[in-house]
Amino acid sequence: MSQQFKPETLCVQAGYTPKKGEPRVLPIYQSTTFKYDTSEQMARLFDLEDNGYFYTRLQNPTNDAVAAKIAALEGGVGAMLTASGQAANFYAIFNICQAGDHFVSSSCIYGGTFNLFGVTMKKLGIEVTFIHPDSSEEEIAAAFRPNTKALFGETISNPTLEILDIEKFARVAHQQGVPLIVDNTFPTPINCRPFEWGADIVVHSTTKYMDGHATSVGGVIVDSGNFDWDAHAEKFPGLCTPDESYHGLTYTKAFGKQAYITKATAQLMRDLGSIQSPQNAFLLNLGLETLHLRMAQHCKNAQAVAEYLEKNDKVAWVNYAGLQGNKYHELAQKYMPGGTCGVISFGLKGGRDVSIKFMDSLKLAAIVTHVADARTCVLHPASHTHRQLTDEQLMAAGVRPDLIRFSVGIESAEDIIADIEQALNA
Ligand SMILES: *Cc1c(COP(=O)(O)O)cnc(C)c1O
Repeated sequence: MSQQFKPETLCVQAGYTPKKGEPRVLPIYQSTTFKYDTSEQMARLFDLEDNGYFYTRLQNPTNDAVAAKIAALEGGVGAMLTASGQAANFYAIFNICQAGDHFVSSSCIYGGTFNLFGVTMKKLGIEVTFIHPDSSEEEIAAAFRPNTKALFGETISNPTLEILDIEKFARVAHQQGVPLIVDNTFPTPINCRPFEWGADIVVHSTTKYMDGHATSVGGVIVDSGNFDWDAHAEKFPGLCTPDESYHGLTYTKAFGKQAYITKATAQLMRDLGSIQSPQNAFLLNLGLETLHLRMAQHCKNAQAVAEYLEKNDKVAWVNYAGLQGNKYHELAQKYMPGGTCGVISFGLKGGRDVSIKFMDSLKLAAIVTHVADARTCVLHPASHTHRQLTDEQLMAAGVRPDLIRFSVGIESAEDIIADIEQALNA
C-alpha cells in the first residue's frame, strides 16, 4: 500500500493490514520462535529460499510491520529495526565496510556517532575522515581514498543544528562510486525524505520523534534500493560476491534492489544481534501513528519560541533554521519547506553560570538527557553530555560553552514561552 498514499495516511495505516477476523491493532508477537510442520520447510528458511519467521533475532512480524511503515514513509524498498540508533548507524556502515576500509563523514553529527566512527570503528580497522558539511564538493572529494566505501551526514545535526546539503553530498558520493548514508532523525520523513534528494540509505534513532513519547530506545535502517552495487562490485565484495556464511549466496544476485537491507538482516543481525524488542516496536508504531500531527506542532511551537528568544535582550544568540537570518534558512527552505524540527539552541548573555541558573529556574521544561519528545526539555551540553571537555575543546567540537539545547514539545507555545520568561527573570 506504500506509494499511492500521502505521509499522513502512511503514518496511521502502513505496514499492517489485518485480514478477516484479525486484530485491528498490530499485535505484539512476543515470541522468540515460530512453528513449522516439516523439517524441509524449516530448512528452506535457513537457505533464504523461503520467506518466513523462525527466530526473532532475525525477523519478527511486529518489527517487520513497523519497519515496513517506516520504509513506506521514507519511500524505500525495505527497512530493518535495531535496538538503538547507535546500532543502526554501526550496522549501516559495517554492512559495507570491513577492516582496511575507510569512509567520509560530516563532522557535524551526534556525539555518540562521532565516538562510534572516530574511536570504536577505528579499533575494528575502519577509518573515518571528518569534513565540515559546508565544505565544497572539491574539499569533500579530496577526503576520498581508493578504499573509501561511504559518505555519511545528518540532515539536521544534533545538537548544533547544521543543515546538510543533501544534493551536494549525493553528487560527491555518486561521483566517487559510493552510497550516501543520511541520519534523518531530527526532521523525520514528515519534514524531509532524503531519498528524493539522492541519498541511498537512511538511518534513524527512533528514540526521538518517531517514538516521540520517550518510552523506547530504538533505531532503523532504510534502503532506497537505488544504489547500483554491482556497478562498483570491486568496492563492495560483501554484497557482490558469494557469502560463505550463506552457502555461497550473492546478495545482489538473489535480492536485487533489496540486497543491502537483506544482508543487514540475514548477516549482521544474525551475527551481532541488536534486535529491537517486539514490545518496543509496538510502542514505536503507536508513536508513528501521530508523527505527522506531532511534527507540525513541534515546528510551530519551536518557531514561536525561537522568535521570542530572538527578541529578548537577555539572549546572546539563537540558532533555529526557521529564523529568517539563520545561516541555514535557505537550505532549510529547500529541503524542509514544511518545517525542520522542534530543537533550538541558544546562548544567554553572561555565559556558562547564567545558563545553569536559567535551566535550574525552568519549571515546565525539564532537565533530561533527551531530545525530541512530546515534553519540552532542556540540556546544557557543557555541563552534561560534554562536561569532560574544556571550553577550547567544546569550541573545537562546534559546541559553544554557553549553548543551551532546548527541545520544544507539543504543549502550548504560550506556556512554554511563559516558563522561559520567568526563568530569564529569576
Ligand atoms: C540520539 C541520536 C542517535 C543515537 O540514537 P540512540 O537511539 O540513542 O542510540 C543517533 N543519531 C542522532 C541524530 C541522534 O539524535
